[in-house]
Amino acid sequence: MNVVGKISDPLASSLAESATERMARVAAIAAASVDAVDREGRFPLETAEALRHERLLGVAIPVELGGEGLGTAAVADLVVQLAQACGSSAMIYAMHQIQVASLATHGVTSEWHRTFMRRVAGEQLLLASATSEVGIGGNLRNSICAVEVADNRFSLTKDATVISYGANADAILATARRAPDAAHSDQIMVVIPADGNRSLERRSVWDTLGMRGTCSDGFLLTATGDAAQIFPKPFSEIAAQSMLASSHIYWAATWFGIAADAFTRAQAFVKAAARKQPNVTPPGALRLSEAAAKLQEMKGHLVAAINRFDTARDDDDDLSSIGFAAEINALKVASSEKAAEVVRIAMLITGILGYKNGTPFSVGRHLRDVTSAAVMISNDRILSNTSTLLLVSRFDTSLGA
Ligand SMILES: Cc1cc2nc3c(=O)[nH]c(=O)nc-3n(C[C@H](O)[C@H](O)[C@H](O)COP(=O)(O)OP(=O)(O)OC[C@H]3O[C@@H](n4cnc5c(N)ncnc54)[C@H](O)[C@@H]3O)c2cc1C
Repeated sequence: MNVVGKISDPLASSLAESATERMARVAAIAAASVDAVDREGRFPLETAEALRHERLLGVAIPVELGGEGLGTAAVADLVVQLAQACGSSAMIYAMHQIQVASLATHGVTSEWHRTFMRRVAGEQLLLASATSEVGIGGNLRNSICAVEVADNRFSLTKDATVISYGANADAILATARRAPDAAHSDQIMVVIPADGNRSLERRSVWDTLGMRGTCSDGFLLTATGDAAQIFPKPFSEIAAQSMLASSHIYWAATWFGIAADAFTRAQAFVKAAARKQPNVTPPGALRLSEAAAKLQEMKGHLVAAINRFDTARDDDDDLSSIGFAAEINALKVASSEKAAEVVRIAMLITGILGYKNGTPFSVGRHLRDVTSAAVMISNDRILSNTSTLLLVSRFDTSLGA
């Protein structure tokens, strides 16, 4: 099925138009299928095809490797655009971009990864992630599985609790211990292309409250390949210097977009009520102001975190600092909580029409999707990590003027 029939030459259109304009077309396609994707808990194939067609999967790959070299702010903006149409699609795009960020930051010194980045941009490959594992839950900085390397070949078996869109991805970036005798925190990350020597055995099915279209099934992942597929830098550095920040920023962008769409629906509801009774302020108007303030807080926090990351990104010591980790952890916890608050207020405003599916004011899907935010690496786990950091750091009270 050609879901983007109107565009005849995608490459030409991508060169001529901004990523924002191209994402607007993808978002329209995502919005048209969002209810079916959510109801059926299926992968948003139309959106993924449209992202490929509009050449939006390689936008953050460096220009010299065939991408467009977009930075964090521009990519986050694209995520926000898509999230207003479909939370699952946006989370898929966000997770893909987190993997691209790891490649673009830590793969440029390795010929294998440079060649792979050219493939991502040229063939518009969709990348997934396997960090979670049976036995360690959401503890990113721990692995049980280990790569075994011999004669420049690696082999890996990982019992992954969750690999979002694993069955639809063109490659999976997996974490593992460096060797069978390495410590749990001595990790590497390896790129495992779907067209390489790998198998995925589905172990659990993603039938969840929200984010149903991410199809985050559990898999036993088995792979062998060239040892050069392993990133040259240890995963501890990849996590500290790119993955932690890009994850929390792109996730927060997703939740912000979902909350913004719920807000827009609530605003439309209040405006419609005001039109019906022009001389009366609708009761929902007060709540709308409250939601607007929270949304503004989310936006401010997200923009500040993006700026903070951009400032720190050329300074490995700053990126690896306790202060930076605490700040970026705070973004995840605060935005996940605030998104849920905004959507809850939107439902209070829209009442039964918001609670029901299939009305212009429905926010049930938004509510279900944002509940995933607090458990997507548990807020309690993140707060507990930060609490340890706070024992040995000072809160930065300067306003950066
Ligand atoms: C929509 C979605 C998509 C995802 N996609 C992927 C993916 O593509 N790839 C991937 O690898 N993972 C993915 N994940 C999984 C995610 O990264 C985490 O691994 C997962 O959310 C952890 O779930 P858990 O409840 O088993 O966590 P655990 O970390 O095991 O936590 C379980 C419980 O223990 C508590 N807890 C744990 N540690 C602490 C602590 N230190 N202090 C206090 N309480 C604690 C928490 O409150 C929590 O309720 C996805 C998750 C979601 C929601």
